Amino acid sequence: MDKNQSTGLLFEISRPGRRAHRVGAPDVPEIPLETLFPGEVLAETPPALPELAELDVVRHFTNLSSKNMAIDCNFYPLGSCTMKYNPKRHERIVALPGFGAIHPLAPDSVSQGILELVYGMQKILAEIAGLPAVSIQPAAGAQGELTALLVAAAYFRHKKDYRTRVLIPDSAHGTNPASAALAGFEAVTVKSRADGLVDFEDLKSKVDNRTAVFMITNPNTLGLFDGQIAEITKLIHDAGGLVYLDGANMNAILGITRPGDFGADMMHYNVHKTFTGPHGAGGPGSGPIAVRDFLEPFLPSPVVVKTNNGYALDFDRSLSIGRVHGFQGNIGVLVRGYAYILTLGPKGLREVSEQAVLNANYLLALLKDAIEVPKGDRCMHEFVASARLLRREKRISAMDICKGLLDHGYHPPTVYFPLVVPEALMMEPTETESKETLEEYAKVFKAILAESAETLHHAPHTLGISRPDEVAAAKTPVLRWKN
Ligand SMILES: *Cc1c(COP(=O)(O)O)cnc(C)c1O
Repeated sequence: MDKNQSTGLLFEISRPGRRAHRVGAPDVPEIPLETLFPGEVLAETPPALPELAELDVVRHFTNLSSKNMAIDCNFYPLGSCTMKYNPKRHERIVALPGFGAIHPLAPDSVSQGILELVYGMQKILAEIAGLPAVSIQPAAGAQGELTALLVAAAYFRHKKDYRTRVLIPDSAHGTNPASAALAGFEAVTVKSRADGLVDFEDLKSKVDNRTAVFMITNPNTLGLFDGQIAEITKLIHDAGGLVYLDGANMNAILGITRPGDFGADMMHYNVHKTFTGPHGAGGPGSGPIAVRDFLEPFLPSPVVVKTNNGYALDFDRSLSIGRVHGFQGNIGVLVRGYAYILTLGPKGLREVSEQAVLNANYLLALLKDAIEVPKGDRCMHEFVASARLLRREKRISAMDICKGLLDHGYHPPTVYFPLVVPEALMMEPTETESKETLEEYAKVFKAILAESAETLHHAPHTLGISRPDEVAAAKTPVLRWKN
């Protein structure tokens, strides 16, 4: 772009012969570029952007989007991810100009609405957690884990009580040990018993004055609530450590029990899971943390506070670990979560969990004669089946079953996780699925198990891509629009 040329940015993007999208374009005043940017940062030549007509771009992305599996199109029992229905009214709410058009750098005086919402969300999440102080900054559950562990590290440093270890059950999500390592701790694995719950004796043998934090997911990734939680938290607290709750499975216990009440000192939420943020393919997420009062001074800065003149960002936090995300995190996910929580209210949230647990148990009952479910015939909001015997006896693996499900229009369960179950298939139907959907899914699932190994080894047969080399896709992704 010629830097001396005076032009409106919108018009500069169109080139001769490709001007269709100018029809009906708003009357944008011509602003000399130099008044917007200092001369030295303006490029001498135009960037090599692809030249495409708008309609071609629309068709490209619309066709791409229809190739996706989505909760709006398919049953999506992806365990641990809580793929529940995302109400469409949330999209209207989040697009309201007061939320959608506000500039993140706008002064507090003109951002009172969004600050009030964040403040309200802090209060609500504190109430549901049973823990008084909340930071809504982290952008995902994993970042919430890291943030809380940095808070814990700052707390112990402040006390000059130097602790080096984070204990984590072997059924935990992989982000738990990763977060511990990133926060500078040594991650120590705690065994699970044969029934899938924490091996208390093994935990006891590993707890000492080096223990900073014990991270527990409860209910755990097997969909089991660990009833030893009171003994576990007492053991950790007696040794001077803190208990962290991985809150990814809050969908099972909303309004029924509170992490703070069963002894957790810190937790994260996955707002995109539990409170309906549309997610998948890596984001966007929102992973607020809630902590006990003695950890509050170390929370990320700023937090939203209520003053005599309304709401404000409080940066005056000398012990804070600092920022973990720009502005207030992924605010759009929080707006949707806030709308969801206010719509349902306390009673409605409890019903969500009761229905989620009922649905998972119904699906488990429909499937347990067809496939092994090693850790019990009752569950919370999800359960883990195993294709171990099928693999041995019929050469049908968990992966084959998943590929077969794709042919029938179902998103597969979470597969090969948790690691404590061989050939794992982790299913979470969520509360928003109907009885008919669950029955139909169970019928198809059983029909797939009856197919021959030869047929299943080549599934899916109906999709454009069959069995990509996932390792190569992850290691050498092709990210350019043109080679
Ligand atoms: C999803 C999940 C996480 C990580 O959360 P993200 O929001 O994906 O970063 C951690 N633990 C468990 C048990 C989970 O299911």
